[in-house]
This record gives sequence, structure tokens and C-alpha cells, in this order.
Amino acid sequence: MQTGPSNLPSPMLDSPFMHPAIPRLLDLQTVDHHLVALRADLDTFPKRIREADLKLNGARAALAAAKEAHVNGLKERKKFELDVDQWKERARKYRDQSGAVKTNEAYKALQHEIANAEAEMAKAEDRQLEIMMAAEDVERRVKNSEANLKQAEQSVAVERKDIETQQAAKKKEFDAALAEREHALAPIPEDMRILYDRIAKRHNGTALALARDGQCRGCGMRVLPHIIQLLVQDTNDEEVYRCESCGLILYSLEPVVPHNLDADPSHAASSASTSS
Ligand SMILES: [Zn+2]
Repeated sequence: MQTGPSNLPSPMLDSPFMHPAIPRLLDLQTVDHHLVALRADLDTFPKRIREADLKLNGARAALAAAKEAHVNGLKERKKFELDVDQWKERARKYRDQSGAVKTNEAYKALQHEIANAEAEMAKAEDRQLEIMMAAEDVERRVKNSEANLKQAEQSVAVERKDIETQQAAKKKEFDAALAEREHALAPIPEDMRILYDRIAKRHNGTALALARDGQCRGCGMRVLPHIIQLLVQDTNDEEVYRCESCGLILYSLEPVVPHNLDADPSHAASSASTSS
């Protein structure tokens, strides 16, 4: 039976091959990663609320357009009312004059003008009627747009409230994680805190990297064999070791010498002799 990596003698917490601050720092890093994720989540809320509000823009624009159409309709109606009056007045004048004309031709010309004015008057009346009929549609449009906007406002209010509830819950989770951080921080000596903070600040909340297979898992660069050896064998509590490339604090979960030294038989002998 093969055992997977998950069956390794697990937590690092009781590994004798590890600087005693490392497990505490890993706890702190776990909390910090959680905080980074929570902060990123929290940052999305203002945008989500803005986006919900933006949904009203369409309904607002539709209402504004309907109202404008309504105003324009009234203006147009007024204009054709004036046209009707003007043509009516002109036809009346020509009719008054027709009693005083002397020649047949002049009479005919007047009759022609009267017919023309009446035709224009009829045209303006038709337009007026069309506009009045259209005005009913426009008024309906205004009413519908008002109802749509009201409905949209209600649904956006519900959505907003939902987002705000989620936001409050996330904030609570964030505050709990902050308290958890204080707790994780407590057992860590001050010099380690300072080092951790300095590194974590530069790496978005990450200060430690696993060293495995001769590699820093933070940046993928090679870790010098003697550093690996120190990580897995050193019982000295004074120092932590950092990746030369990315600067993260290295730790190892495997109290064995890495594979690149396995092939060296002389090494196997020497490590056996120093283990006593
Ligand atoms: Zn590295």
C-alpha cells in the first residue's frame, strides 16, 4: 500500500526539526490569508451597490424620454391650433372681400384663395387630431414609465438590502478574523513579529514558504542543500532561514535530507554518524 502525502506524520506543530516560532507564524499566516481574502470580498461591495443603482438608469431614462415626448406633443398641438386659427381667419377675410370684387377673374382668384385656406385649415386640423391621439399614447407611456421606475426602485431596494446584509455578515467575519489574528500573534516573540510583518507586507500577507524537493515553493527557486539541511536538522532555536531569492521564511515538513543528496552514498553515511 502506497501512502500519499496526506498520510505523512502530519502537523508540523510537534516536529522537533522546526524552529519553534514556525508553527505559530504559520497559524498567523493562515489568518492573514483569510484576512486578505475577506478584505478583497469587502472591497467588492461598494461596486455591487453602485451596479444595483445603475439598473435604475434605464427606467429613469425611459421616463425622461416619455415626459419629453409629452411636452413636445403639447407644443406641437399648440402650433397647429395657431395654424388652424390663422387659416380660418384668412378664409374669413377672403370671403368678406368676395362681396366687393368687380370682375369675374378677381372673384375666381378669391374663390381659389378661400379653397386653399380651407384646405390648409383642414390639414392643420388633421395634424392636430393626430397629435391629440398620439398624446394619449404618450400619456400612457409616461404612466407606464413611472410605474416601471417605481417597480425597478423597489426591486433595487430589495437587492441593495440583500447586498448590505451580506456586507454586514462579511464585516463581522472580518472582525472575527482580526480578533483571531490578535490571538495568533500573542505567542510570537516580538523580533519574529517584526520580521514576519516586514516580509508579509511585501508578499500580500505571505511570509513563509514551504521548502520541498530542494525548492522554495514561494518562488520556485532552488534552495541550497545546506539550508535544507539546516531546516530539517537544526535544533538551534535562534534562527529562521529565508529563501535567498524571494526572502520568504522557509520551513520544511519533512525531516529528511532532500533528494539531491540521496544519490550521494557518502552523505548517507555522514548523516547517520551525526544523528547520534
Ligand atoms: Zn523563494
